[in-house]
Amino acid sequence: MRLKNLPLRLAKGGPEQQAIEAGEIDAIIDHASSNVILLPAARRALQEAAHEASKANSLLAALPPAEHQRLLAGLEPVTLKFGEVLQEPGVPIRYVYFPVDCAISLVTTIEGPEVGLVGYEGAVGISLALGVDVSSVRALVQATGTAMRMTAAHFDKTFHQCPALQRELYRYADAKLAMARQIVACNCFHAVEARLARWLLMTSDRVRSEEFFLTQAFLAEMLGVRRATVNEAAGPLQRRKLITYTHGRIRIVDRKGLEATACGCYTRIALNAPLRRSSSASPGLASSP
Ligand SMILES: [Zn+2]
Repeated sequence: MRLKNLPLRLAKGGPEQQAIEAGEIDAIIDHASSNVILLPAARRALQEAAHEASKANSLLAALPPAEHQRLLAGLEPVTLKFGEVLQEPGVPIRYVYFPVDCAISLVTTIEGPEVGLVGYEGAVGISLALGVDVSSVRALVQATGTAMRMTAAHFDKTFHQCPALQRELYRYADAKLAMARQIVACNCFHAVEARLARWLLMTSDRVRSEEFFLTQAFLAEMLGVRRATVNEAAGPLQRRKLITYTHGRIRIVDRKGLEATACGCYTRIALNAPLRRSSSASPGLASSP
């Protein structure tokens, strides 16, 4: 990656060197090492995009500029795809994820119902902040989108130098615990239709969209019910024109009506873990359904 040495291998005054000097090339493939080498302008553009994207995560956006800048050095934007598993129970945590516009479900076992949902207001892998380097939950990408990712090693090195990040993560860890308690109680005592409504609203809030993709199997897993039960719960919501659900694509048509159908857990979770709107709601990094 020694960029300054690279032009020496190019023919002096040749078309490649002229194109580089004219700013017409963003990157070079070095066949000797198989590395893709970004030229300075492209690297700067990517860093600026990463900086903007990171501000769309509430935890990162709340940090003072100096601390935010220090963390950026270890953060990289990644696209997380629906169904991707980020963490497994009992397995060392490799990365901390700060979602930008994706949503990540936390479940206790492979078949277990959901015990948490993380979007742009939070982070996944924050057990590291509490001195625990092994995950206690399965983290599963529920909505495709972008997250800022940091290695566990880098997080470990940086966390103690960032007092504002410590405060933010301890506060968020407490809110996440309260959410887990509420969801566990909800799973035990509330009707599937009310839980489904609550869950759709929570997802919509975190992906900042009224429309998102969810398979019936995924819904069943998250709610801890059979697929047929998902249909029985979603049917009345569609007939009352609160949602549409076609080929896995869910659209919330009547938010007020859906809120009235959801159990009170939706409001309680929102009170315990408020979603703070950040200045960069549309980071503009790669995202697909
Ligand atoms: Zn409930």
